[in-house]
Parts: sequence; C-alpha cells; structure tokens
Amino acid sequence: MFKVLVPVKRVVDYAVRVSPRSDGLDVDLAGVRMAMNPFDAIALEEAVRLKEAGYAGEIVAVSIGPADADETLRQALALGADRALRIDVPASPEPLQVARLLAALARSERVDLLLLGKQAIDDDANQVAQMCAGLLAWPQACFASKIRVGARWQVEREVDGGIETVEFELPAVISADLRLNTPRYVKLPAVMAARRKTVESLVPAALGIDIATLTHRLSVARPPARPAGIRVDSAAACVAAMVERGALGGHNPVKATAPPPFAPAARALVVGLNAQDGELPGLVAAAARLAGHVDVLDDGLRPDGLLAGAARRLCCAAPAPSIDALADWIAALARDYDCVIAAADSGGKDWLPRAAALDGAQAFSDVIGIAGADTLLRAIYAGDLIETVRNRQPRLWMTVRATAFRAIAGAHPLRIDQAGPATGASRVRVLGRQAQGGETLKDARALVAGGRPLGSAERFAAVLGPLAERLRGTLAASRAAVDAGYAPNSWQVGQTGQIVAPGVYVAAGISGAAQHVAGMRDSGLIVAINTDPDAPMMKLADIAWQADLFDAVPALCAALDARGVTIAGAAPDYSRCGPA
Ligand SMILES: Cc1cc2nc3c(=O)[nH]c(=O)nc-3n(C[C@H](O)[C@H](O)[C@H](O)COP(=O)(O)OP(=O)(O)OC[C@H]3O[C@@H](n4cnc5c(N)ncnc54)[C@H](O)[C@@H]3O)c2cc1C
Repeated sequence: MFKVLVPVKRVVDYAVRVSPRSDGLDVDLAGVRMAMNPFDAIALEEAVRLKEAGYAGEIVAVSIGPADADETLRQALALGADRALRIDVPASPEPLQVARLLAALARSERVDLLLLGKQAIDDDANQVAQMCAGLLAWPQACFASKIRVGARWQVEREVDGGIETVEFELPAVISADLRLNTPRYVKLPAVMAARRKTVESLVPAALGIDIATLTHRLSVARPPARPAGIRVDSAAACVAAMVERGALGGHNPVKATAPPPFAPAARALVVGLNAQDGELPGLVAAAARLAGHVDVLDDGLRPDGLLAGAARRLCCAAPAPSIDALADWIAALARDYDCVIAAADSGGKDWLPRAAALDGAQAFSDVIGIAGADTLLRAIYAGDLIETVRNRQPRLWMTVRATAFRAIAGAHPLRIDQAGPATGASRVRVLGRQAQGGETLKDARALVAGGRPLGSAERFAAVLGPLAERLRGTLAASRAAVDAGYAPNSWQVGQTGQIVAPGVYVAAGISGAAQHVAGMRDSGLIVAINTDPDAPMMKLADIAWQADLFDAVPALCAALDARGVTIAGAAPDYSRCGPA
C-alpha cells in the first residue's frame, strides 16, 4: 500500500467577497470566515476514498502556516487523514517555497503519492503541484477529474479542449480538479475525536528549506468597474442596444502600435506550442511590452500575422513527448532569455511552473498587466482583486492572459530557426485526448453561455444553439451547468474554467457568481438574461433583460432575424454538445 501526502491550505471561504486593506497594500483579512481550500478538500476526499478502497495506506495531511492552520488540520483528521503536520511559518509562503517544503517532506516521509488541490482560491496561482513534481523529478497529472489505480496509473485531466488521459507510475504528483469527487461532510463524532489528536509541528529549517521570498506584493486593488449598463424589456430593445453598441458587426480586436519595451536589452521567449491561435498575438504583445527582443517557439504552422512584434520564430515540428520532457527542455532553453511566457491556459499552467521550479524561479500566473520591467499585475481571489507584484529574480517566468493585451499591428518578416524537439525523460505518457469543442472558446467572437436552469444537454443545445449560430459564436457554460451534465467540462468559463473575452458574451440563466465572472468580466459586451433582476450578472451586464430565458432566447433569435442582422463567419458546429 502506498503512502499519501495531502496539503491542506487555510483560505478565505469561497463565498466571502474580500476587499483591499485601507492602506491598499494587502488584502483585508480581518474577521473574515476561513475554510479549507475547496480543491484541497477534494484531494483529501480522493485520498480517503483510495484508502477505503484498500489502495492507500497512511494519509498525512500537511498545512504550511501559523498556528491557526491547526483548525484546518483538525478538519482533515476528522475527514479521514491519519496524521496531521503543520510546517510553522508566520504567513503562507510563495508557491515555490511551498513546493520546496512539500518536496522535502515527501522525501523525508517516504511518500509515494502527493495529492494536492489544483489551486488555492486566494492567490489562484495553480503552481505548487507542478513545482513539486519538477523538484522531485516525479510524473505529474494535473487537473485530474478521474483516477484509475493500477501498476500504471491512469488519470483523466480536464484541459481546455476536452479530456486528456495520461499514464504513469508511482511515485507521482496528482492535482485535483473540481469534478474529481464531492467531498463528504464531517461528522460530529469525528470532529470530537480529531480534537483529541495531536497536530505535529516542524519548522522549515528542519527540512533544510529557506523560505526567503522572491517576489514582493506592492498593492492590492479592485479591478476597474465596467460602465453602468442599461435595462431592456423586450427582444427588439435588446437587439437595438446590441446594434447600437456595435456588438453585431463581428469581433475585430483593435490592434495597437507597440509601446516601447520596459527593458530594451532584455530577451523574451514566448512558448506558443500549446497555445490557441487567438492567444498568440496577446502573448507576443505582453512579451514586447517587457523585452526588446522577442522569440516565439511554436510548431511553425501558424500565420506570421499572429506573431507581430516578434523578431524570430523557433519552429519545433515534433510535439513534446511528455509534460516533463517539455518542462526540462524549456528550462534549458530559458538560459538564453530574461523572460519566459506562456498562455494562462491548461497547457501553459501545466508545464511552466514545473520548468520555473527547475530554474529555481517563482513563476507568476494569470498576468493581466505589465507596469514595469519587474512589475506585474495579476488577478487574485477569482479576479475580485488585482495585485501588483514585483519580481526580484533574474529571470521572469509567467503565464499571461492573452485577452488582456492588445495585438500589435503590422507583422514584420521573421527570422526562422529550427528548435528541438524536446527529448529527455518521459515519465508521463499521453494515452489520448477527447475533444469537446472547448478549444474554440478563446477564439470565439461571441459566446452564448448557459447556466443551471437549462435543465438538460438537449435543452442547452436546442435553446442556446440557434442564438450562438446567429451571432456566429459558440456555446459556453457555468460550472453548475457542466456539473449537471448539460455541457462538457471544457465549455466551463470561470476561475477554474477558461478565461475568455469575446466581443459579445450572452449569459442566459447564469447568476454571476464571482467564480464565473472571473472568466468573462473582460468581454466586450455582456448581455444578461435572468429572471432575477438582482442577480450579480444583471448588475455587471451592459445590457440586462429580466426575462425567462426559455422565452427570451428564441425571441432574441426572431428579433435578430426580423432586423436582418447577419454576421459573417462560419456557422458553429454543435455536434459535440453535451457532456463527455
Ligand atoms: C472553488 C470553486 C470554483 C468555482 N469555479 C467556477 C467556475 O470556474 N465557473 C463557474 O461558472 N462557477 C464556478 N464555481 C461555482 C460558482 O460559485 C457558482 O455556483 C456557479 O457559477 C453557479 O452557476 P449558475 O449561475 O449556472 O447557477 P445558479 O447560481 O443556480 O444561478 C442560476 C441563475 O439562473 C437564473 N434563472 C433561473 N431560472 C431562469 C430562467 N428560466 N430564465 C432566466 N434565468 C433563470 C436564476 O435567477 C439564477 O440567477 C466555483 C465554485 C467554487 C467553490
């Protein structure tokens, strides 16, 4: 039987809306309700299920933080962990330091499986599992939605395009996604018993780890508010408002003349191997804002126009054999660069933290702004807050939300060189990928997103499909709709789904929880259809229509037809509508 280590982080409860502190230097945590990070609860539940099924032996829960983390550890004991251990630090360290502590603990405890939540819902970094795997040179299977135990383990991973199945042997690192399981409730007798158990404690020095910080938070602020929207009361008024706002003319993101780079002598590498076409211009624009010289590494098959702002293209025709081989390769390539950039999608977030850890660097996730050569803006707390952070390391590693950067106008001829392919140890084998259509979400000019009230996969497609067709867009969904099986997981928009910014985002029957808004708040025009006038989405929307979506969406289609609005572009394909 194998031994499992499950880290559990104490975070602000997901339902609490946090604010910046009055001095604007940090998040105001005074008196807020705390809870176990929901993804860690899922990881712990999976470990307990593996134990109940006779596979796992001892489960060790670990938390890294001050004494109040003991409360979270006692909850872990009540939920089924055998031992609880706190690494005593005054405040939660950066992901790289957390990963170093966990990797050292995994070695000293002779752990076979490190089972983590895929991200903590406070810093939303999504890095620790990947970094641990890199530091331990173990296989990684991140964003797991199904685990099959065997001589070779198989894990189904939620990726932007659908589901990917990977195979590997223990020891390994697995990070849990939302749909891996539904955690059990803690029973009162178990809570009482957990109170009597010991929480072990040790200091970082006992593991030989120095937790000095490599980055510095400069400030925390709310994101800029959208201009107040309007309320409409009919389909005709809704279409008129959409036309007036230019939402029906197709989505052509404005291209910008590149502003001068903050570090003209710096060299940036944009790794576009896994990025969607629509992400590349934004990634290059971000790189060009930082560095005077930008190289792009991709498969060489995409149009040059997507790379405006780059000087050189490194073509790698062969796909990397595995995530670990890719990370090893990029970590070696990075020695020639001051900055390495990938898309903040399921591909970039998988390999980049691992490669950064191999380079001894703390990476930055979900960068949405660049304010200086070493100063970045990124979304935290599901996008409710924006932090400005300073990098103090020689090399900058980051995943970038491509939608936050305007494509650069005017492509110049690129120098082209061959690169790779990635070789090296492959501890993870990809067995297959089941496409679900989600790979088109980031490129879509319009998204018609549905929520819980849709009621079934058939109704989801039948009601929303015709509107998406008329808008020459595609379908998206809330987590509630995905969890209920009305839409595939890769259509999920939000904190733990895809981050999108189409020209038009129609939210039909979506309440507008912070976790959903995190994925779509930068859309060009937001149209909300909801029976509840006070739903957060109705307050966020540019055009809000209080109506039953089952009447409103067909009426909107009819109004578009009556007005003769036609939009150029290929009609979408809904043949893959419905769950995997
Ligand atoms: C760690 C964590 C991560 C999460 N990540 C995500 C994420 O990435 N994406 C995401 O979407 N969610 C995410 N969630 C879930 C999120 O908190 C919400 O629960 C979810 O977004 C709700 O989905 P919904 O709006 O479809 O459903 P509900 O909250 O049930 O809202 C349904 C809405 O439909 C309206 N309605 C009902 N009937 C009709 C009708 N006939 N016509 C029109 N309107 C109607 C209601 O008024 C309501 O506003 C996450 C949660 C957690 C804890």
